[in-house]
Amino acid sequence: MYADRIKNLPPYLFAAIDKAKQEARARGVDVIDLSVGDPDLPTPEHIVKALNKAAGDPSNHQYPSYEGKLAFRTAVADWYKETFDVDLDPKKEVLTLIGSKEGIAHAPLAFINPGDAALVPDPAYPVYRTATVFAGGEPVIMPLLRENKFLPDLEAISPADARRAKIMFLNYPNNPIGASADRSFFKKVIDFAKDYNIIVMHDNPYSETYYDGERSLSILEMEGARDVAVEFHSLSKTYNMTGWRIGSVVGNSDVVAGIGKIKSNIDSGTFGAVQDAGIVALESPRAVVDEIRTIYQHRIEILYKALKDLGLQLEKPRATLYLWAFVGGSSIEYAGRLLEKTGIVATPGVGFGQYGEGYVRFSITQATPRIEEAVVRLEKMGKDPIK
Ligand SMILES: *Cc1c(COP(=O)(O)O)cnc(C)c1O
Repeated sequence: MYADRIKNLPPYLFAAIDKAKQEARARGVDVIDLSVGDPDLPTPEHIVKALNKAAGDPSNHQYPSYEGKLAFRTAVADWYKETFDVDLDPKKEVLTLIGSKEGIAHAPLAFINPGDAALVPDPAYPVYRTATVFAGGEPVIMPLLRENKFLPDLEAISPADARRAKIMFLNYPNNPIGASADRSFFKKVIDFAKDYNIIVMHDNPYSETYYDGERSLSILEMEGARDVAVEFHSLSKTYNMTGWRIGSVVGNSDVVAGIGKIKSNIDSGTFGAVQDAGIVALESPRAVVDEIRTIYQHRIEILYKALKDLGLQLEKPRATLYLWAFVGGSSIEYAGRLLEKTGIVATPGVGFGQYGEGYVRFSITQATPRIEEAVVRLEKMGKDPIK
């Protein structure tokens, strides 16, 4: 019945953990679920109010425009200017998305022909790979290794693969690893993309979730980036709006137009009221995001310390909502035993790709008292109790 593209999807590796989680709950275990990457904090009230008001506006009750309201795209451009000092033309270099996942999933359809390749990091957000396959392309894996600071080694990509590649997917600050990229890396990426005529698609939903005052970069800050790159951005993580489904893709106007062409044949745009509220979100005083960041910073600090005290190898992330701990051996088995002994659920790294094996991802998107409780349980367990 099903097409090959469905049949050939990788097995759902989280199924075992989901089952174990349900069974633990049924036994009465007080499960602390640190496996989800979905902010627990509510959307700030002024944004919710803006939606309520905009929902009553009859002009929002009809089909929205395909590319998004110019007012929303202008708000995105203004936000990029203020945040990264990047100038964008809202008419040509900004496209509204139904969440950035939607744009990422559709983008390869605009550029990949059968036999083309896309360079895909591993471990990674699974959408880059499946979207490539759905478009008839072949994912070529770029391993993200600890010895390379979890950045892909561009020199390890064979010239043949580089020539076949139409797209390179990147994501910094990175989910699931929590690693960040610096200017020199992005510069190398842009030079590489120019040499081989590759479109760089940088997924950047965690740009505002940074710690210790170290601001994260947009690839578009780099000279020449606009010749080869687009960046996916999202309101989901910055403003606790994962349920709202709104984001954008910005940068190279030809690439933006290509994605727009696909979308206009698939969806009919983002609900106007959500865009109106999105404008209010993007225009929020910086204090709104600072407050969210302060809460996350505290959670990161305490969970990092607890995992370190267990003897796990990990680095304190400069950004994102994730701690990526090296546990050695099977990550599925480790996560299973962790749940058994502590009631804490973490994500086995292998679920993000073969190079995620040996690691486990801990997310900080539970209420602070729950993270504190997780820390207490980890402390009680003492050193290296899982092995
Ligand atoms: C959360 C996340 C997104 C954002 O998805 P939306 O569709 O905008 O909610 C994109 N990429 C990565 C890596 C993420 O973790």
